[in-house]
Amino acid sequence: MTPKPFPIAQRVSRMRESPTLAVMMEAKRLKSQGVDVIDFGPGEPDFPTPEPICRAAAAAISAGHTHYTDPAGIIELRQAISAWHAEHHGTDYDASEVLVGCGAKNLLFLLCLALFESGDRVALFSPYWVSFPEQIRLSEAEPVIIQTDPETGFVPTAALLETACDRGARAVILNSPCNPTGATIPVEEMDRIVSVIEKRNLLLISDECYEAFVYTEEEGGSFARFHRRIRDRLIIVNSFSKKFAMTGWRVGYLLGPEEILRAVRKLQSHDATHTSSISQWAAVAAIQEAQGSVRAMREEFRQRRDLLLKAFKKIPGISCSIPTGAFYAFPNLEGLYRGAGVSSTAELSAKILREARVATVPGEAFGRGGHVRISYALSRDRLLTGLDRLRQFAESV
Ligand code: PLP
Repeated sequence: MTPKPFPIAQRVSRMRESPTLAVMMEAKRLKSQGVDVIDFGPGEPDFPTPEPICRAAAAAISAGHTHYTDPAGIIELRQAISAWHAEHHGTDYDASEVLVGCGAKNLLFLLCLALFESGDRVALFSPYWVSFPEQIRLSEAEPVIIQTDPETGFVPTAALLETACDRGARAVILNSPCNPTGATIPVEEMDRIVSVIEKRNLLLISDECYEAFVYTEEEGGSFARFHRRIRDRLIIVNSFSKKFAMTGWRVGYLLGPEEILRAVRKLQSHDATHTSSISQWAAVAAIQEAQGSVRAMREEFRQRRDLLLKAFKKIPGISCSIPTGAFYAFPNLEGLYRGAGVSSTAELSAKILREARVATVPGEAFGRGGHVRISYALSRDRLLTGLDRLRQFAESV
């Protein structure tokens, strides 16, 4: 008799398998067979980690910075983060209001565990980054999902946030620039959102992982600029992953009320303890020595975005709101359904991969079918080849 497998806990069996997985696995399979797939899937910059960061990591190893650190992160890094925010956003967070962790994803998870429980409702704008709803559910709270409008570029608004409050939300997670739409919230709208936070006594968790990649003239980007109005109700989540092409180094951070950070620190001390000591020293060098590389990456992404939008205009059946940040576009492909004989972007993405050898991420993964996410974190050559294949596909169906 074969023994019965040990049952998996409900909290995990309830989780949804990522709908992005099917297309990504198939793309991987095709690539391993030598098929030249143009991959519009990556959620990370295609640039190498800048040299000064790598050098600082090697120096940290030589200097023996290879032991446990404070669970909140080394003081040198927390001070560098606090100083950078003071200079760029006029904040006055001190090092005790900064907590470093294993990437923004893990910190968001710990935040959900520290703040939410059964019976809580947390607002989230759709299309959303795939991990937000799962992390909210893992904390036993319930996501209140608010649809944004493609006509207005998928921008979350104060008016929409009010509707979430009416549905019982006591906190909101915002993500501007947004993965997957590339939408950024204009400063005036941020101001109105902050008024709702004040009026309705909400907690705002602002995921600003793509803050470095904004392509509009106006400043904005970070809710940190409003921190004096909502200091006790604002948590900024940020990361070194995208900004410094450091996804594998696993460094993210929180800025916010000390009491909340103490709770996250407590959780982290029983979880990963802290992120790698070596990565933390490398992150200090990132802030102090790699800002020029960030500017160069931003400029390159901006030019690729412009190439992409120009190419979209020549592809029948595709329409796209202008992404003003991150390195994603989220075009509507419903115009291709009929010709392609499909009724969802999940099916359409699979067909595009099979027939055009182009991998896209179907919008269903982000709570919005009819669209696909296209990442332009690949070389201009590959980008243009992929767009040409998409055009040929669209013209053939
Ligand atoms: N938040 C958003 C919106 C993201 O898109 C990602 C990564 O894709 C993360 C957080 C996670 O970043 P990190 O690598 O810092 O965990």
